[in-house]
Amino acid sequence: MSVANTIAACVYAFYKFFVFKTSRENSEIKFRPAAIFDMSDYTFKGYQCHSKEGWNKLELVEFPVKDFQDYDIDVKISYTGVCGTDLHTLRNGWNTTNYPVIVGHEIVGKAVRVGPKVKSIKHGDRVGVGAVSWSCGECDACHTNNEQYCKEQVETYNMSYKEGWTAFGGYANYARVHENFVFPIPDGIDEAIVAPMLCGGLTLYSPLRRAGVTKGSKVGIVGLGGLGHFGVLLAVALGAEVTVISHSPRKRDDAMAMGAKNFLCGDDWDKDPANIRSLDLIISANSSLNIDLEKYLSTLRVGGTFIQCGLPEGKLPAVDPFSLIMNNAAIRGSNVGSKKEAIEMLALVKQKGVKSWIEVLPMSQCGKAVENLHAGAARYRYVLKQDIK
Ligand SMILES: [Zn+2]
Ligand SMILES: [Zn+2]
Repeated sequence: MSVANTIAACVYAFYKFFVFKTSRENSEIKFRPAAIFDMSDYTFKGYQCHSKEGWNKLELVEFPVKDFQDYDIDVKISYTGVCGTDLHTLRNGWNTTNYPVIVGHEIVGKAVRVGPKVKSIKHGDRVGVGAVSWSCGECDACHTNNEQYCKEQVETYNMSYKEGWTAFGGYANYARVHENFVFPIPDGIDEAIVAPMLCGGLTLYSPLRRAGVTKGSKVGIVGLGGLGHFGVLLAVALGAEVTVISHSPRKRDDAMAMGAKNFLCGDDWDKDPANIRSLDLIISANSSLNIDLEKYLSTLRVGGTFIQCGLPEGKLPAVDPFSLIMNNAAIRGSNVGSKKEAIEMLALVKQKGVKSWIEVLPMSQCGKAVENLHAGAARYRYVLKQDIK
């Protein structure tokens, strides 16, 4: 070997030694923070819908989740309720769906990872998540327990965070949500029973409370479906006398079993003078377009209010202004409820032993659950039990 070659070999050996050492150090430097700061030893998996045509063909996939931030909580999901909104979204009924989507916003589970600035929830707590997962925290709505009306709110699915992350819902094994939208679930309430209350129940509880419903209030519930049945159960729990207005005479026995006092059905119940100006409040949980609005308004007492909670895939019918003016009636809408109201509702549910009427299916049968809901078979909510491995 020539001197030149020997020198070259030595230079190469030194080069290899330093490159190897440096790259190993670099790889250790990269590895250590990940081990310290990313404590998740799980991946997020959920049942994804790819298109309107495939609304009932939900495929189990791993999905990307937003970065874990100081106020975030990871929830290990045990049950997720099946809400009418899931079906509207899967089928693009409101023309707002951004596929692919993972629906589900009635989530119950356990807090398995809690951000360093979270104050209200501890690791291991039983918790729930509803239809909203983030709001700005700074506007009038957010400062007055109206965060569900924040103009910047991010719903639990089919929306994006301003940083670009997609929000995926609860037909999944885990959910990652800001503390402000994670509700503590009191002991003594069954998880499957409570899951559908976190959107469906809250959607009816909030307008009942805001309308001041109390013992002796006369409340009408239009439509005895998944939402409407919560209207009956929760209005009765608040002490109201409830009238159910339904298109289906088959629902009478169920309405009475839920605690209703009166059941109006058919085409001519408004001809009975006893039904005119008889109610303080009517909540329509009906999400079909078959809404006989003026007939409902005729049942309101002077100053009464009609509140629309169901979201039909179309417009409400036109209203003759005389229907409003001649008895000082109001029409308003209502969107889910605040965290404060969720906590109040869960306390009432525990105190009065309110129980959702549910059918539990394994989460792997979520496609069947939405098909059944679409077919009108729900009595009255489907709840998906976790079985993702
Ligand atoms: Zn806000
Ligand atoms: Zn919902």
